[in-house]
Amino acid sequence: MNLILIGPPGAGKGTQAKYLVKKLKNFQVSTGDMLREEIQKNSEIGKKILDDMSSGKFVHDNIVNKLIENILLDPDKKNRLIFDGYPRSLSQAKNLEHLLVKTDQKIDFIFFLNVTKDTIIKRIEQRKIVEKRSDDDLETIIKRYETYMETTKPVLDFYSKNSKFYEIDGSSKIEEITAKIDAFLNV
Ligand code: AMP
Repeated sequence: MNLILIGPPGAGKGTQAKYLVKKLKNFQVSTGDMLREEIQKNSEIGKKILDDMSSGKFVHDNIVNKLIENILLDPDKKNRLIFDGYPRSLSQAKNLEHLLVKTDQKIDFIFFLNVTKDTIIKRIEQRKIVEKRSDDDLETIIKRYETYMETTKPVLDFYSKNSKFYEIDGSSKIEEITAKIDAFLNV
């Protein structure tokens, strides 16, 4: 089963992805984590990624699409993917469609965790204390939220017509969101 989690930064995608990875024995595909790993390597591309990430901008589609392609082509991960933070733009959504066809896979569920800007700000300020991420200061949080709303809106429009698209109130408690996801999955 392949699944997509969509939602603004701080909506709880990562938390639910980790839960689903355990439950379904799938693989989490977090482009944010993959990009942070690239930064750790201190490569030229890593420096470019850091510039974009720390100012709240999206990393270029070409870079992210390449990371995703390697995962979709991995036979061990076939039909066992939980996308967390990808696709984030219409071009990424189209790239994913193309790769799914190419690798004979499909998406079984798309969960949109919908959360307001105020809730996001409160949550990320909390996360900053725990995780100490460089892109978690207030100005960057607001920029990331706005970038998300601007760029990911077309992705939502694209997927909301899909019969596998489910909207969930992301301001609920973690366990309540998990319970809703479980109910939709019916597994
Ligand atoms: P996340 O860990 O998913 O909150 O992502 C942190 C940051 O990584 C984002 O604010 C973007 O700068 C970058 N990023 C993560 N995923 C993507 C993506 N699919 N496309 C472009 N940039 C991304």
